[in-house]
Order: sequence, then C-alpha cells, then structure tokens
Amino acid sequence: MKLFDCHVHSSLSFDSNEPMENYVRKAVADGDEYFITTEHADLESYIFQGEDILADIEKQQRIVSQLNEKYPIKVLLGIEVGWKKSIHQRNMDIVKKYPFDMVILSIHETEQYDVAAPRFREGRTADDCYREYLDMGLEAIENFDDFDTFAHIDYVLRYVGHTDLSKHKEQLTGVFTKLIAKGKALEINTKTFPDPQAVERMEYIVSLYTSLGGKKITLGSDAHQISRHKNGFDKVIAALKVNGVDSVCVFVGRKEHTVCI
Ligand SMILES: [Zn+2]
Ligand SMILES: [Zn+2]
Repeated sequence: MKLFDCHVHSSLSFDSNEPMENYVRKAVADGDEYFITTEHADLESYIFQGEDILADIEKQQRIVSQLNEKYPIKVLLGIEVGWKKSIHQRNMDIVKKYPFDMVILSIHETEQYDVAAPRFREGRTADDCYREYLDMGLEAIENFDDFDTFAHIDYVLRYVGHTDLSKHKEQLTGVFTKLIAKGKALEINTKTFPDPQAVERMEYIVSLYTSLGGKKITLGSDAHQISRHKNGFDKVIAALKVNGVDSVCVFVGRKEHTVCI
C-alpha cells in the first residue's frame, strides 16, 4: 500500500471551496491507490452560536460513490470529529451512524471558546493556552474510543503563538502514553508548513513520541484547497527517518495498514 494524505477537507466542509473531484484528479495523477476527505463535525459550535457544524454526510457518500465509478482510485469516506465533553454522546452517534473508513479526533473548541479566537488567548500566555489545550486533548482521548488518529496536537499554537514544546514535555508525554496504550495513532499535521516554527514543533513531537515507543503515525496536510494537498510531507518523512521510523499508517474501513516511507 502507498502513502496518501489522511486529512483533507473539500467543499463539503464549511471552510473549504475545493470540490472533492479536483483532489481526486490530482491523487490519480500522483498515482495514489486511495483518496480520502475528512470533513468537519463540530457539534454545538461556539463559532456558529451553538449550531452544529456538520458536513452533509449523505451527500459526501453520494459524491464518494460517483467518484469511485468515474476514476481508477478508491475514494474513501472520512470525518474529523471535534470533541468536547458536552457533545460526547452525539459524536459517538455520528461515528456509529455512517460507514467511515477513518475517524480523526480533534480539539477545536473548549466548552466556552473557539481556541482559534482572540478571546481564548485574552490575558494569558501561549503556554497557559497550550496547557489547557493539552488537558482537553488528554480528556478527549481518555473518554472517546471510536477514533483512529488524534489530530494536530499543536493546533492552538497556530493562533496563540509559538512556544518551545520542551516546556510541555510532561503533558505531551501523558497524551502520547495514553494514545499508545489505547492503540490509537498520532497525526502529524502539516497545515502551516513550511513555517519554521511549525516544522520545529513537528520535529520535537516526532522525537518525543517515538522515544516513548509510539509507532502509529498518520500524515495529514489538513488541506482546504488543492495546492495544500500533501503539503510538507517530505519534511515529516525526513524527521521520521532521523528517528529511525520507516513506516506510517493509513486506515481503510477503520482497519490500520502500514505504509513504508
Ligand atoms: Zn482540525
Ligand atoms: Zn481538518
């Protein structure tokens, strides 16, 4: 099996205008065997005044099956579930309801705030914000079982500012240890590459996670437009090799497959 991008948004997500078909054409041209989109499910979202941010999954299924007919590639069905405690059961219900190939678990919001909004940062340092973000990540992983990979562990730092991850070694170790114990994968998210600070954080994350015995890594560009598809994968692969890792994983039908890099 060959590597493919495991975190992609199409125009079915509220924050993308890219038709799924454009990605599929590119993936075919790249010689990929598989293609997946992982559309947003952020229920009772702060940024939508408590309304659900939820892609039309039935429409996603229809487009996936049309593209499977039309192109020589296997198009898969994915979802990115934004977790918070108050919507835990509804998240579980959505994941159960559809035949997803892969489920990404994410933190985008606390119960009070969108972590990307300036109000989350107000009166606090990036380190304060990151401690809260990692606490929520651990809580999500402890409580939610029905996922395959945990996304963008440094997401909040895109918005509150960079920090040296070694200051958060203990909390990061807690999150990685829990993921490893549950047999779940860690996503390396390249959305803001080639930003040197994002690359520096990735190198720290890869080095700490692998030093703890972590072996399950997914690669996701978090592309919302085709120009970002597989963005920066070469940099992650180089860092993985430095740490003695020669494979990553992908999910098809919720089943893990190893891919050599
Ligand atoms: Zn996300
Ligand atoms: Zn995403």
